[in-house]
Amino acid sequence: MRVALTRYEAFHQAMGTEFTLVTYGEDAQYLTAVGREIFEEIDRLEAQMSKYNPKSELSVINRSAARRSVCVEPKLFELLAHAVHYSQSTEGAFDATAGPLMKAWGFFRGKGRVPRNSEIAKVLRRVGYRHLHLNRVDRTIRFDVHGLELDLGAIGKGYAVDRAVDILRYYGITRALVSSGTSSLYALGAPPGARGWSIRLRNPYSMQRAADVICLRNCSLSTSGNYEKFFKVGAKTYAHILDPTSGKPVENMLAAIVLAPHACDADALSTAFYVQGVARSREYLATSRNLIALFYLPQGSGRKFRRVILRSGSTNSTGAVLARIAKRKANAAGVRTRRSGGGTFSRAISR
Ligand code: ADP
Ligand code: MG
Repeated sequence: MRVALTRYEAFHQAMGTEFTLVTYGEDAQYLTAVGREIFEEIDRLEAQMSKYNPKSELSVINRSAARRSVCVEPKLFELLAHAVHYSQSTEGAFDATAGPLMKAWGFFRGKGRVPRNSEIAKVLRRVGYRHLHLNRVDRTIRFDVHGLELDLGAIGKGYAVDRAVDILRYYGITRALVSSGTSSLYALGAPPGARGWSIRLRNPYSMQRAADVICLRNCSLSTSGNYEKFFKVGAKTYAHILDPTSGKPVENMLAAIVLAPHACDADALSTAFYVQGVARSREYLATSRNLIALFYLPQGSGRKFRRVILRSGSTNSTGAVLARIAKRKANAAGVRTRRSGGGTFSRAISR
């Protein structure tokens, strides 16, 4: 006899965003208990990685690692190693030491400000992943310049989604969607009767409009968009993703979206691709596996945009990205779609 599946849905504020969890299973109480454990784990990660909490392990590292080697908790060490890997492989387009630049531009507890070029040049002296030294043998980190600061804002929410998926798998849940606000999500299996989770990508100019709807199954997706966090001075908009080479906010990019087997990778790469732009991202993808990138680029002076879709050289290994752009309208200004259940932002939840 087939048992009807229960749908469980929960929301949780953490890491400056709202996490969403949707699961299907036979027992509502069981799903609730797993959901509770997931949100507890996310709170623990936030307490460890937050740059806003002076007591977090990350804040301790930022205060101390220029003076002495600091021993790091094993899982955080692995995440830092991952962040260094992405900093190296993207030649600093993703740079986990962008913290001082974020402060200079007023994105840290501030309302935004435009620093002088001389100030940016000064700040850049204490930015750069090359100043980070990880020692695997004794699991320590050291900075070789004072004032360096780790900022995991472009990878931490994806990492948290992956940890949530680990917990779901551990408890035998096979149909779930977990998202960290508008940053990253993972689509585990599919809702009953569906091929995958239907994910609505917002129009870069309008939250109410969908640009694309993607069907995802056993795959993660991350977005870096110029509309997520920004400030305006006169007619000019400054968004929160900075090019660590120039020290300035990236221009001429509306959004970079990455699909990958793990949300941690999708998160880091969506930021990197946003910074790198299409041409350099294409080079990166040529030598990588199981990645799809989608760019929304400004077109003309109006609120129009164009899409570029890139795939990595190889996309067919086990656990591969099973993604399909289900509905893609030619209308570059975007299409109006019904808001699907539960979603109030660019992502949404199917069925
Ligand atoms: P979201 O926070 O919406 O998920 P991203 O994943 O693109 O967006 O992360 C942007 C955040 O990453 C910024 O708020 C900042 O904390 C940090 N950051 C900004 N520029 C960079 C960069 N070039 N490399 C790494 N981190 C960055
Ligand atoms: Mg990111």
